Amino acid sequence: MPDLHRYEPGVRDLGRGCFAYLQPDGGWGLSNSGLVTDHGEALLVDTMFDGPHTRAMLDAFRRATPAKIGTLVNTHQNGDHWFGNALVENAEIIATERAASAMAHETPAMLEGFMKAAPGLGLTGEYLVHCFGRFDFADAPHKLPGTTFSGRLTKRVGNKAVELIEVGPAHTGGDAIVWVESDRTVFTGDILFIDGHPIVWAGPVGNWIAACEMIEALDAESIVPGHGPVTDGRGVERVREYLSYVRDEARKRFDAGLGAFEAARSIALDDFAGWGDAERIAVNVATLYREFGDEHVPGDAATLFGWMAQLWKDRRA
Ligand SMILES: [Zn+2]
Repeated sequence: MPDLHRYEPGVRDLGRGCFAYLQPDGGWGLSNSGLVTDHGEALLVDTMFDGPHTRAMLDAFRRATPAKIGTLVNTHQNGDHWFGNALVENAEIIATERAASAMAHETPAMLEGFMKAAPGLGLTGEYLVHCFGRFDFADAPHKLPGTTFSGRLTKRVGNKAVELIEVGPAHTGGDAIVWVESDRTVFTGDILFIDGHPIVWAGPVGNWIAACEMIEALDAESIVPGHGPVTDGRGVERVREYLSYVRDEARKRFDAGLGAFEAARSIALDDFAGWGDAERIAVNVATLYREFGDEHVPGDAATLFGWMAQLWKDRRA
């Protein structure tokens, strides 16, 4: 498939009744959705960060297929994958038990509050506007999942079996992927960021690496990441390489007694130079330090966004 990596906004027909909806450049909040259809039925994978972006996605899918969405799967708890849920009317909404319980505490009102405070937060505020300024959190018709599962759950869409597989905690506490074996298509949520730096909110990183290996073993023809272009096995391998590399580099610095922020700042990312949002290394190293047993490394959003803001500024200088 010569145009596998073509990365244009809107619907991408993957064949066999599967579709992706892509939002280049895949940076902060610019997530992908997926649609699995058969015999007039459809299962949607994730909504967008706010009402306007979700309406655009639903309109685009409606133009691509008449199939009616009866099931909505949220791959994980981050708002850029579920803040538009209420716009998908009369659908059964499903997430892992762990994701659903976290979602109850991660509301659009929190982000709206951050954005209102941003003008008084100096560099961190400037960075928040860079990340989230394009979204309208006052128009974010979110709705919590009504169905939860742990481990695996199989849903039917027409005659197709769609497998929901919990692979977290990794990116967040309750990550799941959506595998359509009959169509050799997998929707991975934020287990894959393609051409962008992954962000390890939860870890352990070993779980995330195992999730990558599992996705590689599926031998899918279309791999739809949570952010970035549709990819193949090589794309998954690169994410796994990034995670192993950052884990090893962070460990060396931890053993040498370096603080987490200084460690993040000193890790060379030249091998991943084409990827966006490199400042996420700050969160990744903080999470790894916690995994290594550092009880003092900060885990609150205000500090972590402050650290990312600093690295973002350094890279622009
Ligand atoms: Zn995301």
